[in-house]
Amino acid sequence: MVRQSFVYGSEVIDYTVLFTERPPGRILIHVHPNEAVQVDAPTGRCLKEVHEAVLKRARWISRHVSDARRLREHVLPRAYVSGEGIFYLGRRYQLKVEYQPKASAEAKMLRGQLRVTTPSKDAAAVKELVDKWYRARAVEVFERRLNEVACRMRWLKKVPAWRLLKMQKQWGSCSPAGNILLNPHLVKAPRECIDYVLVHELCHLKEHNHGTKFYKLLEQTYPDWRPVKARLDGMAELLLNE
Ligand SMILES: [Zn+2]
Repeated sequence: MVRQSFVYGSEVIDYTVLFTERPPGRILIHVHPNEAVQVDAPTGRCLKEVHEAVLKRARWISRHVSDARRLREHVLPRAYVSGEGIFYLGRRYQLKVEYQPKASAEAKMLRGQLRVTTPSKDAAAVKELVDKWYRARAVEVFERRLNEVACRMRWLKKVPAWRLLKMQKQWGSCSPAGNILLNPHLVKAPRECIDYVLVHELCHLKEHNHGTKFYKLLEQTYPDWRPVKARLDGMAELLLNE
C-alpha cells in the first residue's frame, strides 16, 4: 500500500495505491463514500505509470471526492421515506414507502426498489420492516457465501454455526470458543467484501489473534484481500448507518 497525492485546482488530493493480481492489466480508481481515493494497480506497474493514470482522471476524481463530501455532510439520520437509498450487495436501490391503512405490512424488492407497504405512517414501523428484510437477506446470503468460502478452507471440517448481531463498529467476530457473529449490515456490501469478512472470521477458528499465522492463513484463502478490505473500510460509515 503506497500513499501518494496530486494537486488539482487549489486542492491536494491524497490517494492510496494497492497493487493487486486482479483485475488483470487495468488501473482502477475508486472514490469511497468516506472521500478516500483507492487506486488498484496490477502488480508490476510502476508508480510513475500509476500516477499518470491518476492525473488523467484528476477532474473525475476531484468531482467524486466533492460529491462524497457533500453527501457525508447530509448523511443521517435516516428518515425512512420514499426516495432514500437502500444498499444491498454493493448496489444502491431506492426505498419506496406505500401507506395502505388496510394492507398488511410487507417489504419486498421489486424492479430496483425496496417497496414497503405499511398500515402505519410511523417511520419506526418502516424501519422495522426494512430491518426485517435485511436480516432475512443476510441469513440467506451469508449462509450461501459461508458454504462457498468454506470449500476453499480444507482444514475446516464443516461450516460452523453462526448468528446475526447488529454491531456498531464491527462486521463480524469470532469468540475463542468459536462462536461466529455477523453484522446484518454487511449484506449491504459487495459480495467480495462479504466473502472477505467471512474468510476473516473463519480463519479465527484456527488462529484467534491477528498474528503472522493468522495473516498467512487469510492470504492462503483470500490472496487478494487487501483492496477488498480497503473498499469495505471506505464504505463502513455509510453502510453501518441506521
Ligand atoms: Zn479479526
